[in-house]
Amino acid sequence: MMDKLIDALCLQCGLCCHGVLFADVRPEPGDVSPLFNGGRWRVAQPCPAFKAATCACVIYAERPARCRKFECRQLLGVRNGTITVEKALRQIRAARRLAAEVEKLLTELGFNNTRLSFSRRFQRCQRAAENGKLPETQLDRLADLQLAVHRLTGLLAKEFYA
Ligand code: SF4
Ligand code: SF4
Repeated sequence: MMDKLIDALCLQCGLCCHGVLFADVRPEPGDVSPLFNGGRWRVAQPCPAFKAATCACVIYAERPARCRKFECRQLLGVRNGTITVEKALRQIRAARRLAAEVEKLLTELGFNNTRLSFSRRFQRCQRAAENGKLPETQLDRLADLQLAVHRLTGLLAKEFYA
């Protein structure tokens, strides 16, 4: 059963499940979550157990140990009374807006494989640019992407990584 705080924040967020905060989920020793069925040693994000329509984990009761343990700064702050729910929701909305901007720019640049995390898509884009594989007409858009990623990673580092 989800607690009320997770209802209030996580169901509006999903950043730690769909490839924005993390690139994958790995089992801890003895982890019996069905996410790792078949002996998988890592599951790439966006996590296949994340349902975007409801912004929820479909195996919540059986989620991996790492998912159980992770609480971002916003969730922790609200839990311990140093951040209000309203302020946390503002940070979540700000991060989601920046993530949507990064998503849009990556897609416009042709890095539209939504089965990969943001970090992997951005790395591929940077590598293509370094190898001269991006057309010159896209260089302004690349600069916009680099700026958006810089702003997103700054916000995540300050307000989300625990
Ligand atoms: S990043 Fe924080 S608020 Fe968002 S889903 Fe994860 S734990 Fe919940
Ligand atoms: S298993 Fe559930 S909680 Fe863990 S990353 Fe996937 S969707 Fe999120």
